[in-house]
Amino acid sequence: MSNMMLINGKWIGLSEGKPSTGVINPATEEVFKHIPQADADDIKLAVDAASDAFKPWSSLSYAQRGEYLKKAASIVYERSNEIGRLMTMEMGKPLAEAVGEVEKASKALLYYAEEGERVYGRIISDQSRSFQSHVSYYPVGPVAAIIPWNYPIELLAWKACAALTAGCTMVIKPASITPLSSSAFCRCLTDAGLPDGVINLVFGSGSVIGKYLISDKRIKKVAFTGSTEVGKKIVQQCAVNMTKYSAELGGHCPMIVGQSADIDTAASDAARRSFRNMGQICIAINRIYVHSSIHDSFVEKLKVKTEELVIGDSLKTEGVNLGPMADKNGLLKIKDQIKDALSKGAVCVTGGSAPENQAKGFFFKPTILTNVNHNMLLMKEESFGPIVGIMPFDTTEEAVELANDTNYGLAAYVQSNDYYETEYFIENLSAGNIAVNNPDAGVMNAPYGGWNDSGDGYEHGPEGLFGYLKIKHIRKRIRKS
Ligand code: NAD
Repeated sequence: MSNMMLINGKWIGLSEGKPSTGVINPATEEVFKHIPQADADDIKLAVDAASDAFKPWSSLSYAQRGEYLKKAASIVYERSNEIGRLMTMEMGKPLAEAVGEVEKASKALLYYAEEGERVYGRIISDQSRSFQSHVSYYPVGPVAAIIPWNYPIELLAWKACAALTAGCTMVIKPASITPLSSSAFCRCLTDAGLPDGVINLVFGSGSVIGKYLISDKRIKKVAFTGSTEVGKKIVQQCAVNMTKYSAELGGHCPMIVGQSADIDTAASDAARRSFRNMGQICIAINRIYVHSSIHDSFVEKLKVKTEELVIGDSLKTEGVNLGPMADKNGLLKIKDQIKDALSKGAVCVTGGSAPENQAKGFFFKPTILTNVNHNMLLMKEESFGPIVGIMPFDTTEEAVELANDTNYGLAAYVQSNDYYETEYFIENLSAGNIAVNNPDAGVMNAPYGGWNDSGDGYEHGPEGLFGYLKIKHIRKRIRKS
């Protein structure tokens, strides 16, 4: 059931003549399911359906749409184990985290179910009492949502919650690595009674079917999360029809540990945010700058925390903190970054190889490198894997200069108990999200978006919802003059 696409309310499985591809379990490297692949005709049918469903769906009130989302939220919550298990099999995340991700998606549905009723509009006075301006919001239209594999359900849910609340319909394209959990999530929405065509789900390679989706004039917004490289291509394609877009892209995030920081907290926060989900998080900490007076003790404590993390297949072993990486290419990339750093003088404090007890699977030990500099690949390009480089600094200015030495600007982390130093970092770090003395830079009701090469647009909060709305300004004569 989970290997089906959805077009206009009809679930489409493997059929003769339709090409198919295998879904690989990264813990075993074995194909465990096959899925159909959409072609240009399927994309057209999906956009036809989203276009036809737009008028009736957008004509409902926010409260009426909210009722569908509330019902879907409870179904998603009930099925969180089933969907989480599929996610673990597809991309390796430990089961408890996968289930937690699905539960968060359920909460996102509830949040936006209510947030829609707070789309207020404005009344603006004119130069003359005879006139008044009204500002009203309208859904942008059918949306193409293109999703990566690292948080396949949260990233799908954030888009679906905001788009559906706003009154938009959708064609969703999940990453090829994670079609099954996406399909199971969409089924929760249809089981909640969502009318046919309001959401549609198509599988396939982004570079092949993405262009059909984005170039269709009836698609009025592309909601994309993924790499900066692909994001820039999509933005160029959107320019052709002036299609609205949101682009949540890559990151290369710094953490600064000031002299006054609590070293234990800094070390456990760094271990969590560098290695959680095997570092396959856009807001992962990739580079740590530590005041030179505490550098060695911080490195030692982080090493201890890192070596406590249990690596394995969470479907077979209890208490696993880290699963395999999601695919082989990601593994090859971090191996290249480590090789490059070591050849330029870096020191490997821990990790640097696959765990000895795993014969198969894309497993790798979380890796800490010191004696690094900005000529090394791991300090410049997104790793998207379990590796982190640590450098000492002496002044706050130097720390900020190093932290900002990147084209990305997604998140930055500060550990400090000095008020003025903390304010200096907050003021001067060039990133859309700053976490101070904690490792979580995002919450559902506050805007989340990147600066510079990390993207354009917001998810979460009212800003996430307003990204699916367009403004109509109405100037009214209200008195005879
Ligand atoms: P990716 O860019 O390779 O793919 C993302 C999605 O785009 C997939 O569904 C893919 O099939 C599709 N795609 C690929 N080429 C396309 C094309 N030419 N046209 C249309 N669609 C296309 O990224 P990924 O490997 O799936 O995910 C990892 C990347 O996502 C990392 O760079 C990470 O930082 C980023 N990411 C960003 C955020 C954020 O909120 N800023 C969150 C998660 C992941």
